[in-house]
Amino acid sequence: MSGVGSLVRPDLRGFAGYKSARSESVRGDVWLNANESAWANPADGEGRSRRYPEPQPPALRARLAQLYGVVPEQLLVGRGSDEAIDLLVRALCVPGQDAIVVTPPVFGMYVVCARLQGARIVEIPLVDHEAGFAADLDAIRDAALAQGAKLVFLCSPSNPAGSVIPLEGVAALARALDGRALVVVDEAYAEFADGASATTLLDTHANVAVLRTLSKAHALAAARIGVVIGGAELIAVLQRCQAPYPVPTPCADLALEGLSDAAIAQTRERVAVVRRERERLLYALARIPGVRHVYPSQGNYLLARFSDAEGAFRALLAAGVVVRDQRAAPQLGDALRITIGSPEQNDRVLSALNMQEVAA
Ligand code: PMP
Repeated sequence: MSGVGSLVRPDLRGFAGYKSARSESVRGDVWLNANESAWANPADGEGRSRRYPEPQPPALRARLAQLYGVVPEQLLVGRGSDEAIDLLVRALCVPGQDAIVVTPPVFGMYVVCARLQGARIVEIPLVDHEAGFAADLDAIRDAALAQGAKLVFLCSPSNPAGSVIPLEGVAALARALDGRALVVVDEAYAEFADGASATTLLDTHANVAVLRTLSKAHALAAARIGVVIGGAELIAVLQRCQAPYPVPTPCADLALEGLSDAAIAQTRERVAVVRRERERLLYALARIPGVRHVYPSQGNYLLARFSDAEGAFRALLAAGVVVRDQRAAPQLGDALRITIGSPEQNDRVLSALNMQEVAA
């Protein structure tokens, strides 16, 4: 196997996966090959859920490919980017042998999937520069090579830190790890960020893959639609490792509707509001005396350090506002992550924290 195929677990290289009834290309008008019901459930309006879905619903796959500027064969649709992370780890890491590189403090699923697979975890912490947490790309490169890592997970914009990794840095890392590791850029929050997507590196860097999701800017978290984008060879391998019918028909229908031109125009408007509110909240939070530091963010959230994070968390809860407590995360012992809400919700955050200051 050439290119990125050599990164796939040797024992999976000839693996065909499950051949579902839907994946056989046969013609007919009486379908009695999948033990489905001949009649619809009364809850199922047009009877669209009577049959198993296509493993990769073609219209949705095509629309997503168009959205992300790739061809459908470069993209695998799954149950959120969570599933994509799991598939990557399972397809590339030999249990008990191979490793992944992660950059704490960062989204927890990379490590969860690695633990479940029995893959080793190499941690290269983000460096706290006050102006923002930065990935130490030289240290990542050296550790990946020294530890024989198969996967490097970069999160950009990073959750919860909010910083982005310059694309030149991602490209240089991919070149240094060519033939050794796949560099995965998790862009769950890319719509809220300035700058180009790492998908622009795919044509020139075979060992780059990108994760995107409809859960954040597109406001469809419950539909559980996320994608991994990469070379067609990698995508075909990942599909063979995926469950037979990963995309439920009602979810595919909802996602397709949610990606209509009109819906995308509304998504852009929501993103503009989030970006405006992000700036407003950044400055307003920084003026509150108990707030030690607020990190600039390219995501739909802000990471803030507090002189009394416990008190701030409780004051917010008492006002009915639930934020993410980050205190158990490395380097974040005094930090909370606040999702950017509607202007009214953000006002609730500010008034709860200001009132805490007055009471203190
Ligand atoms: N990546 C990052 C960085 C995230 O923050 C999240 C969700 N919080 C995900 C991936 C998973 O998103 P989903 O499975 O909903 O696509």
